[in-house]
Amino acid sequence: MKAAVVHSFTEPLVVEDVPVPEPGAEQVLVRVEASGLCHTDIHAAHGDWPVKPEPPFIPGHEAVGIVEKVGPGNAHGLEVGMRIAVPWLGYACGDCRYCNSGRETLCEQQLNTGYAIDGGFAEHLVAYARHAVIVPDGIDPLDAAPLTCAGVTTYKAVKESGCTSSSRVAIFGVGGLGHMALQYARITGASVIAVDLNDERLETAKALGAEHVVNPRKEDPIEAIQALGGADAAIATAVSPKAFEQALGSLARGGTLVCVGLPADNGMEIPIFETVLGGLSVKGSIVGTHQDLVEVFELHRRGLTKVERTECHLDDVNEAIASVLDGSAGAARTVFDLRDADGRAAATTAAAATA
Ligand code: NAD
Ligand code: ZN
Ligand code: ZN
Repeated sequence: MKAAVVHSFTEPLVVEDVPVPEPGAEQVLVRVEASGLCHTDIHAAHGDWPVKPEPPFIPGHEAVGIVEKVGPGNAHGLEVGMRIAVPWLGYACGDCRYCNSGRETLCEQQLNTGYAIDGGFAEHLVAYARHAVIVPDGIDPLDAAPLTCAGVTTYKAVKESGCTSSSRVAIFGVGGLGHMALQYARITGASVIAVDLNDERLETAKALGAEHVVNPRKEDPIEAIQALGGADAAIATAVSPKAFEQALGSLARGGTLVCVGLPADNGMEIPIFETVLGGLSVKGSIVGTHQDLVEVFELHRRGLTKVERTECHLDDVNEAIASVLDGSAGAARTVFDLRDADGRAAATTAAAATA
């Protein structure tokens, strides 16, 4: 099968032929239809974070495709032919205090797709059945892919922000994650301020319902947001510590900063005095649970969210990464389309022909 493989943190990915993996116990083999390019895949490929993946590995944790084969043991309700999504949380133990309290994203035994487990930048991948989520009929797989990380992560982050219909919410970074965050915040009824260095992303934010947009290249976001009364919540998805500091500075008293982005530069300044006197909260939010993704798909199926995406071929993976990094990508999220010309996963087509 074709796959985009990271061999070195300092070299481009190599698109090459690798063996189709075999599903083990409680796993399924998936024929990938669509795979989103999350900025996390870029951090993975570059070895940006304190905990690094081990090359060679295949990135991709917004994988959507068709179950082609079921391994031995409990398939957790999955059957051949079903369309499923394979998220970042590729495996969690199911037994620890975190897993048993609806906080499986904090499981210390977790394995991450496209990091510790080979991911979706390939024609096939193997997934743990319990952690895959069925994609409801009526959702385009090219939409389902970005929802599988950008969607679920920001759905959870908006919950963590505590925002309600009377809140003012600032979203710092309205790329893949941020453009979904803004929609989940709007669904609560909150008023949204979108902040990004890229005017094209701000245009999209306006179209998606942002009441105010701020480009920090043109005006100071702290001053601009404080002039509006300050943000009750700020969600930082931008890949820059400076944006996190500005997000904190933009809060109204009692406000909450939700940290979501994971810049390679791993430090931000938090002024103690202002945080104490302002009664500010700073929290981290990591992806979302299996149930969060079920809810994200349901919101999309009901027509309440829109994925702003551009499609490209897996052969162009390095160009796609470059375009996310330099801001020239055609849309908030880039999605690799791995389907046949007729829109069906190739191996599924073959299976149907012999059935
Ligand atoms: P992206 O590249 O699509 O979007 C980032 C956006 O931030 C871009 O639109 C960019 O123009 C903007 N930006 C950059 N610097 C800025 C600044 N100083 N001020 C304002 N905007 C700025 O990336 P993405 O896929 O949305 O991912 C964003 C970050 O979130 C990455 O670090 C990724 O690893 C992380 N992430 C975290 C989680 C989690 O669970 N916490 C999940 C997925 C991704
Ligand atoms: Zn666990
Ligand atoms: Zn992601």
